[in-house]
Amino acid sequence: MSGIIVKISGPTVTARGMATTRLFNRVAVGRMSLLGEVIRIRRDEATIQVYEETTGLTLGEEVEDAGEPLLAELGPGLLSSTFDGVQRPLEVIAAEQGAWITRGVTLPAVSRNRRWTFTPAVQPGTPVTGGVCIGTVQETEHIQHRVLVPPGVSGVIREIREGTFTVTDTIALLDGDRPLTMLQRWPVRTPRPQAERLPPIVPLITGQRVFDMLFPVALGGTVIVPGGFGTGKTVVEQTLAKYARADIIVYIGCGERGNEMTEVLADFPHLTDPVTGLPLMQRTILIINTSNMPVAARETSIYTGITLAEYYRDMGYAVAVMADSTSRWAEATREISARLEEMPGEEGYPTYLSTKLAGFYERGGRVRCLGDPNRQGSVTIVSAISPPGGDYSEPVTQSSMQVAGALWALDSTLAHRRHFPAINWKRSFSLYPASLDPWFRKEVAPDWPQLRADLAALLQKEEELQEIVQLVGIDALQDQERLVIETSRLVREEYLRQNAYSEIDAACPLEKQYWMLKALLTFLAYGREVLKQGRPIDQLVSSPFRAELARLKEIPADACVRQAQTLIEKMEQELRM
Ligand code: ADP
Ligand code: MG
Repeated sequence: MSGIIVKISGPTVTARGMATTRLFNRVAVGRMSLLGEVIRIRRDEATIQVYEETTGLTLGEEVEDAGEPLLAELGPGLLSSTFDGVQRPLEVIAAEQGAWITRGVTLPAVSRNRRWTFTPAVQPGTPVTGGVCIGTVQETEHIQHRVLVPPGVSGVIREIREGTFTVTDTIALLDGDRPLTMLQRWPVRTPRPQAERLPPIVPLITGQRVFDMLFPVALGGTVIVPGGFGTGKTVVEQTLAKYARADIIVYIGCGERGNEMTEVLADFPHLTDPVTGLPLMQRTILIINTSNMPVAARETSIYTGITLAEYYRDMGYAVAVMADSTSRWAEATREISARLEEMPGEEGYPTYLSTKLAGFYERGGRVRCLGDPNRQGSVTIVSAISPPGGDYSEPVTQSSMQVAGALWALDSTLAHRRHFPAINWKRSFSLYPASLDPWFRKEVAPDWPQLRADLAALLQKEEELQEIVQLVGIDALQDQERLVIETSRLVREEYLRQNAYSEIDAACPLEKQYWMLKALLTFLAYGREVLKQGRPIDQLVSSPFRAELARLKEIPADACVRQAQTLIEKMEQELRM
């Protein structure tokens, strides 16, 4: 069915003669067949958001209804790929057309030519339902792609083939000769089903001390990272994309400046996965919609990204979604809402902003997968937010805060002082420690939660003392109090600070995090005793222990752990003498 364009307003167009279309249907707009999506229907008029530049489009051109919503293509070959917000394969387009995004280009997201070796996992005669794994493909060296029966499909396997196939070849037949292939499609705005939601009891290990120790996030959790310009949002997202212990990373560069994404594109292909030693791109999917790309595609990019994430979750993988930034996404919804002349809500954002945001975050979670009660997967969401002027009272931060399980607050004062990650520990929070602590106790050390509490108490105490110092000067403090300030400074600079560009310290394993902190807190206890014995504070400040502690972070993990243990022993030994 087709309609006729009667109005063009930036990225939105209105077409008449569209009475039978449905909300969110995919359409081809005009002679150039620009990709669009129906976002409003009034009588026979459909308003369409167009994912491509609309200049040159004229009234009277036709709009073709595809009769189905915008679908993500799912199948082997997604990993290592770079897509735009509507899943057009950017590298393939670049290779074929010499430039990114030629309007009206429709190239499949998943290669139709590439062949994969399919190994069946079920026998003929097996009854299957949605989510059941019928076979596997080695997608990258490390990641095995589990070919699942699409949700909603069930039957009995009549025939299953072994060999090398393209994604559109039939690999199995269900009763009634219904073919199964390795390619599936899924409407991006619809969450993929799961069997059961599971509690957030396993951490996403980020390798960043301030996060893992103070504000941990769970696999399947959501964390928001608000911060003003230059406070380190992108570095947080990229550092996690590199070092977080997830099986798969979906990185959504949404509306950020083009040069930042160029960095990612230039950088990532050369990086190796610190765990497997394989190219990092083998576990990564990049979705890129920079600020110079059309606004509607930016609106869709987070749905495309989360759908791909859910697809790998369904195979039983821990997937982490890095979204940088959801503010740019929210601005896209604002722009489109304005074009629709909707009644604006707070700061011009649509009134449904918080519902939409909540809907996105709800797609995170740790689940028991459809089709196999033993298969568990997760989607963890790490979402950067750019509140104008760093002011958290604005709608995007506020709405996100209501649903996020953790908040890593980036602070411009700390960033100016080059204290990175510039995490303000007073404004940050995590709701996950209560459910994660059993894991930390069992997997790292029984006193992990105690160390976190001691660290938080130390920072808190320093804060109070600094207020006194501001008022009456450092001399007003007792030596025991000065010790708190000195140790806290040491902890802030040598423990909470972590240079994303350091060869050794960019990522810090939990074992190292634990022993470093344990040694630092032992120094506090040691200092207290030393002072009690009447020795002057200056002796502690210039103590060789202090210097040794400051060096810990630049020592590789195993050696660092041994060194921290040695320091602890020495301090304890000295006290016994
Ligand atoms: P934002 O995305 O919030 O605008 P960026 O992530 O681009 O900010 O960070 C700005 C700059 O801050 C970076 O280019 C880098 O120099 C510095 N920076 C941020 N985080 C770190 C870190 N963990 N280690 C070292 N430098 C950092
Ligand atoms: Mg940034």
